Amino acid sequence: MQGGLFNSVVRALQQLELADTYGESCIPLAILNVAYPLVPDEITRFCASKRSVLIVEEGQPAFLEQAIESILRKGDIQTVVFGKDVLPMAGEYVAEVLQKGIATFLENNAPGITADRGGGIVARIDDLKSSASTQLGAPVPPRPPTFCTGCPERPVFTAIKFVQRELGNVHIAADIGCHTFSTLAPFNLGNSVLGYGLGLASSAAVDPPMKRRTLSIMGDGGFWHKGPFPAVSRVLCSTGQIRFLSS
Ligand code: SF4
Repeated sequence: MQGGLFNSVVRALQQLELADTYGESCIPLAILNVAYPLVPDEITRFCASKRSVLIVEEGQPAFLEQAIESILRKGDIQTVVFGKDVLPMAGEYVAEVLQKGIATFLENNAPGITADRGGGIVARIDDLKSSASTQLGAPVPPRPPTFCTGCPERPVFTAIKFVQRELGNVHIAADIGCHTFSTLAPFNLGNSVLGYGLGLASSAAVDPPMKRRTLSIMGDGGFWHKGPFPAVSRVLCSTGQIRFLSS
């Protein structure tokens, strides 16, 4: 599985009574915290003793699934590889989605492990959802992505809203990261979004004709990727000033 999916996979296995809350799983797990390049020996060592494996990989194309198939076939290992045939091609792999996929995989490949171990939890979730939608009479509005509760970035963006109320709007160049949630309601901050530190470069470009100082927001990932370069060029090549604010 992709390393980032570990928590959701363990939660799904836990609901199926195949793992505990500490991540101890009855099903052997290979967790790829580095998904590229794959280490063929690591893959073949894990798969060689298994009749079938399920690749848990978000997104499309299924790069891991294809690469693992290729490694196994070249190594003449006949382990059957499942992936997008039991898990959705697109969409977020939340625990409920994973429960269904893992349950289907187990039903087809491990008859000794009944997928109903969780007391038919997959069917119960479906029943609950359909009963809730009948009672509500209308689809539940989707929950937009937003900051975690208690995120320290919230007060920063709230402060920016207050400052704009007093000073008027300023040009805000956003970058990619959790802080990009500030471009959504209720903050609606940000005139442009560029990734990997380029937000700061773009704000340097639009700064000269602006009446007010422009603002650029980036997280630590963007900063360490490329942030220092536009910061330096901004100081050298424009009248812009740099102030760093850390949350
Ligand atoms: S920075 Fe991101 S992950 Fe951290 S608390 Fe805020 S929204 Fe959550």
